[in-house]
Amino acid sequence: MSMLSVDEALELMLKRARKVKGTDRVPLVEAAGRILAEPVVSAIDVPPFDNSGMDGYALRCDDVPALGSRLPVSQRIPAGSAAYPLEAGTVARIFTGAPVPAGADAVVMQEHCESLATGALVINNIPKRGENIRKAGEDIRRGTEVLAAGTLLTPAAIGLAASVGVARLPVLRRLSVGVLSTGSELATPGHAIGPGQIYNSNRYLISAVLKNLGCDVTDYEPLPDTYAATCRILRKAGALHDLVITSGGVSAGEEDHVRPAVETEGELNLWKVAMKPGKPLAFGKVGNADFVGLPGNPVAAFVTFHVLIRPFLRKCQGASRYRNESRGMVAGFEWNKPASRREFLRVRAGADGRLERFPNQGSGVLTSCLWADGFADIPAEQTINVGDTVRYIPIAEMP
Ligand code: AMP
Ligand code: MG
Repeated sequence: MSMLSVDEALELMLKRARKVKGTDRVPLVEAAGRILAEPVVSAIDVPPFDNSGMDGYALRCDDVPALGSRLPVSQRIPAGSAAYPLEAGTVARIFTGAPVPAGADAVVMQEHCESLATGALVINNIPKRGENIRKAGEDIRRGTEVLAAGTLLTPAAIGLAASVGVARLPVLRRLSVGVLSTGSELATPGHAIGPGQIYNSNRYLISAVLKNLGCDVTDYEPLPDTYAATCRILRKAGALHDLVITSGGVSAGEEDHVRPAVETEGELNLWKVAMKPGKPLAFGKVGNADFVGLPGNPVAAFVTFHVLIRPFLRKCQGASRYRNESRGMVAGFEWNKPASRREFLRVRAGADGRLERFPNQGSGVLTSCLWADGFADIPAEQTINVGDTVRYIPIAEMP
């Protein structure tokens, strides 16, 4: 088994990632979290017309030569109404978002004006041309591409599509993923735990991450550690899904059946990836589906999923952004147990802006994943002192 660096493993996986085929057209309210299949081009200017940025008075600057100028109010323009051209030598009462009347070249905010009992308006401010007017097309010009194909549809992206009047969006088909957990020791939450059993956390953890990533998830009952059962389920799942993800059973022990079963039902690349936590990572195919075998230890499954599988999955979904990004952060902790492999510590950004480290970095300690908001990416053989800059990968900012 060859030993790959994290980057080598990632590049190998990304090279194999194939964009899912098929698109749906979904209403905006159903588009959140999907990946846009085609660009969205605006058919309109946004805003569509010059409008007021304030409650106040629209006027011609030339009509206000001096502070305290008095002008009559000739029309009232609430938002949603049409405006008449502004009569010379008058002002128009106007509200935020209402169309600026033709002929007006500024809006004076109401706080700078005084209404007299006679109906005239005193203007205590010399307006500047264009003041408080939001120009047609200042946000978006008609014909501009506002969303590129491959965009993850965040709330802001959906709002933007709505702002140009688009009601449905072409999105890539959801990736269908089958989730399998292996281990004869696994008990299902809600059932009593027997001797030697542990509750199956990976099944729920992995399914939840996948659902958050917009996948169509099928989670299977846990598999006993037998070769025959593993082959049978892999064959079934491989025929049904785009991607099959297993946890556990990928080591070389005689109770680890994923490896020989995948070799029988498809093809397997088993890599030793030089990362901690992380055991051998299995990658390949079962039937027509891509196959990923995660380690059984929940923290290792969590970390390898986020560092390696998530970018691969995003690329398969058709997302144009799929690589995790890191940024430099100051360490508020010490680390004097350097590993021979690149290590991903469970950390979080503290109130003082420095990174804190979860005390117990054991690969079975799932509480560290709940506590953390990201990983500190520590090169092999490196110790960390308080004040050092380390690379921080925030989970919430992963594509
Ligand atoms: P394995 O890779 O199958 O040898 O599993 C490594 C460790 O992870 C063992 O301690 C397993 O009991 C544990 N483990 C495997 N699968 C799960 C799971 N689905 N949920 C929780 N722990 C698991
Ligand atoms: Mg096992």
